Amino acid sequence: MSSAPAQPDDAGEPCPTPEKRTYRSKAKANRYQRRRRPPAGEKKDRLYPYLCPCGEHWHLTHQSPAQQARIAARIAAQAAAAAAAQAARDEEREAS
Ligand SMILES: [Zn+2]
Repeated sequence: MSSAPAQPDDAGEPCPTPEKRTYRSKAKANRYQRRRRPPAGEKKDRLYPYLCPCGEHWHLTHQSPAQQARIAARIAAQAAAAAAAQAARDEEREAS
């Protein structure tokens, strides 16, 4: 239970998962997950590092890079759709 205050961050989004363990670099995240690798023969719990959306640190996820890419593509598509809708609204406002 940490009561650290949320640090203001004007360089983008705040970390969406502050409760997750963070790593300073991909290499550090990889080193950590390699150390906790289960005994030979057990393949569960493979973790993959990914850069936090806040851009300041790395987390580990159970999602494979392929799954992450699919999720990222969906988020990008949603953002593009939202931007297009916003642009359409702006155009309408300018036209009236
Ligand atoms: Zn984060």
